[in-house]
Amino acid sequence: MRIRAPKTKIVATIGPSSSDEKTISKLIKAGVDGFRLNMSHGTFSEFSQIIKRIRSVSEDLNSGVAVIIDLPGPKMRLGKLEEPVEVKKGELVVFSDGKKRSFEDAIYLPHEIAGLEKKVHKGDIIYVGDGVLQFKVLEVRGKEILTRALLPGTVRSHKGINVPGIEFKEGAITDFDKTCIEFGVKNKVDVICVSFVGSPDDIEKAKSLLPQDPHYRPFILAKIERGKAVENIEAIVESADAVMVARGDLGVELPIEEIPVIQKRIIRVANMQAKPVIVATQMLESMVDNLRPTRAEVTDVANAILDGADAIMFSEETAVGKYPVEVVKMAVKIARITETELVQPGSMAELIREVIRQSDRIDDMISIATYDILCNRSVDFVVTPTTTGTTARRISRLRPEQWIIAVTDNYTVRNILNLSFGVYPIYMSRLNIVGDELTQFLSALDVVSQGDRIVITSGMPFGVPGTTNSLKVIDV
Ligand code: PGA
Ligand code: MN
Repeated sequence: MRIRAPKTKIVATIGPSSSDEKTISKLIKAGVDGFRLNMSHGTFSEFSQIIKRIRSVSEDLNSGVAVIIDLPGPKMRLGKLEEPVEVKKGELVVFSDGKKRSFEDAIYLPHEIAGLEKKVHKGDIIYVGDGVLQFKVLEVRGKEILTRALLPGTVRSHKGINVPGIEFKEGAITDFDKTCIEFGVKNKVDVICVSFVGSPDDIEKAKSLLPQDPHYRPFILAKIERGKAVENIEAIVESADAVMVARGDLGVELPIEEIPVIQKRIIRVANMQAKPVIVATQMLESMVDNLRPTRAEVTDVANAILDGADAIMFSEETAVGKYPVEVVKMAVKIARITETELVQPGSMAELIREVIRQSDRIDDMISIATYDILCNRSVDFVVTPTTTGTTARRISRLRPEQWIIAVTDNYTVRNILNLSFGVYPIYMSRLNIVGDELTQFLSALDVVSQGDRIVITSGMPFGVPGTTNSLKVIDV
């Protein structure tokens, strides 16, 4: 069989370094399984052109790369500064969205966040630029928030602002996000990421904005980047279709030293519920400028895989970095070596398997039985005909050594399955074929060859989600 490792999926954020056709093609060939478009930067007309480009290149390469859009959400940002502002430690700085200037000696930083002065209180810390700058609130007077700089540094236009614990009364879906969802649906994107999710309601709201279309249903992904989301993690994963450990904002919203443990917890919950989980931000950050990553970064990528991540995501590395393709090639090398560990006893995957073994759900029983058959080395892989992708994902989280060939009659489902660890999705116009016909189809694609031994999952009636209840082992 000619499916190439790694089983770990790679998501690349598109940006100036990677939006041209040639680079998109090189990235897919290097191993990209999904492209993220960050709706915070760019215009709808640019995004729709890029989506068309990705689809046409991936069709040429016969790859079902996933197109992922990321909603800005209620991300707070500074306004426009005429030029960068230097602040010294201890200086007085006022955040204001008005014209009034009551504090004569202070530096003024503009913002356009309605009601920010009502949300912050004396003693709060305002973080700017992913926490590089920190300001302690001394006093709120009208619309003016007087703070003292805790660190020296340069403030630039439109930098992100975080105030840990702040409430977004309107929820995570802003009016602009709604427009982005409409855009995403119109352009048939595969995954929509909801930023700053606080509760399952945010996910339900996003879902309610999707059309009732039996043929097109994008995944709603919950970005976990607030303390509140970590507290509600079980319920959020339950209502979401996929999850992201969004370590950028998470590392400001919560103490940065909590990230490693929280990452493990989020991944575990996602694995248990068989929801794809992406680990994001600063994974090979130094490769923005350098060809060689640091040892710590390489170890971080490997540890995310060992924790049970389905996919790792690059942001600046592929969006604005000097070496987008090399970043992906490096990730491929790290993943290949690391994932051989997952079958070992004592791995995180082993823990998941032990818990699933106790489950009395039929779908869990089928997935663990499949895993057990795959433990026999004479079996080459498992084939899962699927309308929603669920069966493939349930087997994937158990991290068998063999590939999971997921055959589906829906392009969106195929592309989404590209984000699940060890799943090789294939589109097939009709699902209701069995036995010889199915193996002939796979042989024609060069996926199956004579002499292979495969497990096939099935259920009756065909094409009805949740009916998978039997396994067949055959020699081709
Ligand atoms: P962002 O999300 O890049 O949209 O901020 C990822 C993160 O916060 O880590
Ligand atoms: Mn974020």
